[in-house]
Amino acid sequence: MSHTRRDFIRYVVVGSIASGCPIDHALMAEPGGRSPSVEGEQFAVCHQVRDGHSFPKPDATKKAGIVIVGGGAAGLSAAYFLRGKDWMLLEKEEHFGGNAYEEQYEGQIFGTGSAYGYRGDAGDLLAKEIGLDLPLVAMPDPMIDNGKYAPDIWRTGINDLPYSKDVIASFKKYRDDIMKIDFKKNAEQLDGEPFTKYLEPYAPEIKRLWDAYGPSNWGAVSEETSALIGVADSQFLIEGLDDERVILPGGLGCITHKLVEVLEPKYGERMLSDATVVAVVPDQDEVRVTYVQGDKVTTVAAKAVLMCIPKHITSRIVAALPSDQKQAMRRTRYAPYPIVNIIFDKPIYRKGYDNWCPGKTFTDFIVADWTIRNNPGYQPKYNILTFYTPLRESERSTLLNEDDCKTLAGRVLKDFQGLRPEFNVDPVEVRLYRRGHPMFMAVPGQFTKNRMIASRPMDRIFFGNSDSGGPESLTSEAVRISHAGVEWANLVLAGKPGAADLARKALTEAVY
Ligand SMILES: Cc1cc2nc3c(=O)[nH]c(=O)nc-3n(C[C@H](O)[C@H](O)[C@H](O)COP(=O)(O)OP(=O)(O)OC[C@H]3O[C@@H](n4cnc5c(N)ncnc54)[C@H](O)[C@@H]3O)c2cc1C
Repeated sequence: MSHTRRDFIRYVVVGSIASGCPIDHALMAEPGGRSPSVEGEQFAVCHQVRDGHSFPKPDATKKAGIVIVGGGAAGLSAAYFLRGKDWMLLEKEEHFGGNAYEEQYEGQIFGTGSAYGYRGDAGDLLAKEIGLDLPLVAMPDPMIDNGKYAPDIWRTGINDLPYSKDVIASFKKYRDDIMKIDFKKNAEQLDGEPFTKYLEPYAPEIKRLWDAYGPSNWGAVSEETSALIGVADSQFLIEGLDDERVILPGGLGCITHKLVEVLEPKYGERMLSDATVVAVVPDQDEVRVTYVQGDKVTTVAAKAVLMCIPKHITSRIVAALPSDQKQAMRRTRYAPYPIVNIIFDKPIYRKGYDNWCPGKTFTDFIVADWTIRNNPGYQPKYNILTFYTPLRESERSTLLNEDDCKTLAGRVLKDFQGLRPEFNVDPVEVRLYRRGHPMFMAVPGQFTKNRMIASRPMDRIFFGNSDSGGPESLTSEAVRISHAGVEWANLVLAGKPGAADLARKALTEAVY
């Protein structure tokens, strides 16, 4: 593409890069101390949180039975399950949804994060309950590699993979061998090993595929992936679990959007956005939660708190955490993960839902309106494609600089246009949504060991968020864990025994 043509394309960069705390800086000046630099804004402020900066903690002027910290899928579903109870939700961003957040372009909806769920999972069941019917994707994933399109990777299409006969034979051997492993029986052992151990005997193209699939789905390349998740996901794909995928345009942002629509009319006053929690201090009979909203710092006294934010932030704002738990929270690793939406004003690609492109700047791309494309009367003006562009931890700083983000988005567009001759078309807009720490990485030990320590409840504080579940970062896990969190809170508020056991059971019931 010539520079002149590229200059006509509008690049939009949105989203926060530091998942911590965008706070009014004036509030953070300690008496006699120095004001933090405004340069770098969220980055600088979050480092202050990380470094234990002491925020003002006024006396409590509000009370709530249950405070929910974080308004992503976990926090919003907790609020929904708590309808009728005395709760309050605090969310740092201007909007709710977290990593499951949808946007639109001239009325056409697309996702900026979480892509799809599975028929019958906790997210799908909640969607149904609030009036959303999520249609099936009804198609296996295609692959586009070496300029060629293969309709299905692991099942009927395996013979059409764009590789040599020897490589295809290696894919088949991998498929047969991996199905022989009993991952449930050997979960502990597999979770202690890197996935690469199980990829070594096969063609490098198989590792290359997993090095796209892993970062997109669980934030880690095969060297850093737990063999448990690698083996289990291989088996699920080979057995056709992807046939059970469900979604609407907007990805799983469709559920958080609907939850807000359902909750706001009745409970809007209890749902505070732009409200960043900076301290959670447990006491004998209550927990004091301090948040910053605009230029005001407020403390609310709660009987119980549901922490629905990632552990790396939780560890920095909850006081009196046992040291092994704090360490486990800090050990949880997160992948930086921008999403690039490319909007065309003519049909460019509607051949497959989730299309894998190993070796490119992006790992896969999704057709935003896939499950409604054949609805009677549906006539979209735009063809919106969502490109998953996970980065390595060492590349996180790319997201701090808007020009670097635009360069990245430009590389995604260029790589897409180079996939097939018919893709070499200019879009009307390219949007990049940046998130610095959205997806916990499914590294060895995270699922069976680290998570269990990091997520132990305190007397009056429950640790939710999808990073309490697993084995990979799933919206359905955020919802499932929140359901347990609400039952836990009801026991705590009623002064009944069994809350800790209930929480422990919820942790051991994670997907596998
Ligand atoms: C690009 C991408 C693709 C994904 N694809 C899928 C998929 O296809 N299927 C799937 O099931 N899952 C997918 N996931 C994972 C899924 O999005 C998450 O597991 C899920 O949305 C997490 O929800 P949550 O509420 O637990 O956490 P979050 O979404 O992280 O929500 C936490 C909320 O807390 C807020 N917050 C943080 N700190 C504070 C504070 N100090 N005070 C107040 N509020 C605070 C944040 O702003 C955020 O809104 C994907 C994730 C990403 C990033």
